[in-house]
Amino acid sequence: MTVPHWLFGDQLGPHFLPTGSDGPVVMIEARSVLRRRRFHRAKAHLVLSAMRHRAAELGDRVRYVRAETYREGLREAVGDAPVTVHHPTSYAALRLVESLDSVTVLPARGFLVGHDEFRAWADGHGGRGLRQEDFYRWVRHSHDLLMDGDRPVGGRWNHDHDNREAPPKGARTLGSPAPYRPREDEIDEEVRADLDRWERDGSVAFVGADGPRMFPASRREALAALRRFVEHRLAAFGPYEDAMLAQDPVMSHSLLSSSLNLGLLDPAECVERAEGAWRAGRAPVNSVEGFVRQVAGWREYVWQLYWYFGREYRHSNVLRHHEPLPDWFLELDADAVRARCLSTALAQVRDTGWTHHIPRLMLLGSYALQRGWDPEAVTDWFHRCFVDGYDWVMVPNVVGMSQYADGGRMTTKPYTSGGSYVNRMSDLCGGCVYRPGERTGDRACPYTAGYWAFLHRHRARLEGNPRMAQPVKGLDRLADLREVLRREHGRGDGPP
Ligand SMILES: Cc1cc2nc3c(=O)[nH]c(=O)nc-3n(C[C@H](O)[C@H](O)[C@H](O)COP(=O)(O)OP(=O)(O)OC[C@H]3O[C@@H](n4cnc5c(N)ncnc54)[C@H](O)[C@@H]3O)c2cc1C
Repeated sequence: MTVPHWLFGDQLGPHFLPTGSDGPVVMIEARSVLRRRRFHRAKAHLVLSAMRHRAAELGDRVRYVRAETYREGLREAVGDAPVTVHHPTSYAALRLVESLDSVTVLPARGFLVGHDEFRAWADGHGGRGLRQEDFYRWVRHSHDLLMDGDRPVGGRWNHDHDNREAPPKGARTLGSPAPYRPREDEIDEEVRADLDRWERDGSVAFVGADGPRMFPASRREALAALRRFVEHRLAAFGPYEDAMLAQDPVMSHSLLSSSLNLGLLDPAECVERAEGAWRAGRAPVNSVEGFVRQVAGWREYVWQLYWYFGREYRHSNVLRHHEPLPDWFLELDADAVRARCLSTALAQVRDTGWTHHIPRLMLLGSYALQRGWDPEAVTDWFHRCFVDGYDWVMVPNVVGMSQYADGGRMTTKPYTSGGSYVNRMSDLCGGCVYRPGERTGDRACPYTAGYWAFLHRHRARLEGNPRMAQPVKGLDRLADLREVLRREHGRGDGPP
C-alpha cells in the first residue's frame, strides 16, 4: 500500500508529489495559523484559495482536513499511520514534522540547489565572507544558465549597470502590457464567506483589503501568469527594475513571487523560459539576466541563508534597535501619512499585499531602519502583510538585507538613503509636502533627516565599512547636524 503524502500549503505544484507517485495525499487547513497572527486578508484569501484549488484538482486522492492544529489534522486524516512530507519551509514546521514518529521527511523541493550542495559551497567561501554575486555565478555555471560554454552569454555576468535607470522623464506609467489577472471562481467565493464568518465571530482578525484576487491560486493560473510575463513583459524587465512610479506600481515586475512561494511554479521552469525568450531573440540579455539573477540568484540565496545561518539568526540585532512599530504602520494607515512616497507604498500594501522590491527596501524598510524599529517586529510585519511572505524568505530579507540587524553577514552595507535617492528613482517627490533636499525646517524630508540621524547614531560601526566611510564623513560637513538630530529626536512616533 502506498504511504500517504502530506502537502503543506506552500507545496502546491506537481513537483511536490513524490516522483512517480499516484498515491493518497493529505492536506491540512490549520486554523491556529490564522489565529496566531494578524495577516493581510488578501494573503489569507490567496493561501486558502490555492490550497482548496489544489484539493479540487486532486479530487478523490486527497484527504483535506480542517482542524485547529496540524497535529490534530494529521491524527484525523491518518491516525498514527506513516506519511511522507517534503522538507517544509520554516524551522517551526520542520520541528513539528521531525517530532512526529510517523512522518518521514523527504528532501526539499522547489529550489535549484540542495542544502548539502550549498553548505559545501559556502564552507569553501566562509573565509572571504559569503557574497550573493559569487553564489549566483556558481549557480549559473553549475546549472548551465545563460552560459556560452564557460562564459556568460553577452560576455558579462552582471548587467546591473543597464538595469538601474531612473523612470523615463515625465512618464506616469512605463506602458508595459498589463500583467495576468486571474478570474475568481466559486472557491474564492467560499473562502471569502469563511473569512467573513471568522472575522464576524471574532476568532480571526486581519489587516488590509481583500479586493478581487490579484495572484494565481492554481497551477493553471500560475502558468498563464508566467507565460504572459515571459512573452509580453520580460523584455522591459531590466532597465527600470529599481524605478518607482506612483501610478504604475507593478511596472515590468513579474508578480510571480507568490506563485513561486506557494510552490505553484518551479524556479527552474521560470528561468528556463526566460532564457528561451533570449535565445529566440524575444528579450534582450540585460532584462533576461536581471530576471534570472532575481530567481536563480537572490531567491535561491535567501532560501539557503535561512537554513545556513541557523535558528537564532532571526533574533540578530547588532544595531540594538528596540523601538516598537507605531499603530499607523501596523494598521497600514496610508491616509495618515503625508510623505507621498511612504503613503503610496503603504497604500499599495494595504490594498494588494504587494509592492515591488524597491518600495519594500528603500521606503518601508528604510523608514523602519532609520527610526530604530525592532527588527523582529519589522520581520513579523512584512511576513503578515505581504502575499509572498513566508518565514524563510522574510527572515533574511528583513533581518539581513533591510534592517542590517546581522551586521553585514548578508549584505555589504545598510540599505537606506536620503530623499535624493527616492527623488532620482521615482516621481514620488513631486507634489509631496516635504522636499528631498531639505533636512531641517517644516518641509524637511523625513528620509533625508532620518538618514543623517541614522549615520550619526551608528557612526562608530559604519565608519569602518569601506562602502559607508564616505557617507559617514559627510556628517562632518553638516553645519546643521545638531538641529537635524534635535528635530529627529522630537519627532515622536506619529506618521511623517
Ligand atoms: C524587506 C523585503 C522583504 C521582502 N520579502 C519578500 C517575501 O516575503 N517574499 C518574496 O518572495 N520576496 C520578498 N522580497 C524580495 C522581493 O522584493 C520580492 O520577491 C519581489 O518584490 C516580488 O515581486 P515580483 O514577483 O514582481 O518580483 P520580480 O521583481 O519580478 O523578481 C522576480 C522574482 O525574483 C525573486 N526574488 C527577487 N528578489 C528576491 C529576494 N530578495 N528574496 C526572495 N526572492 C526574490 C522572487 O521570486 C520574484 O518573484 C523582499 C524584499 C525586501 C527588501
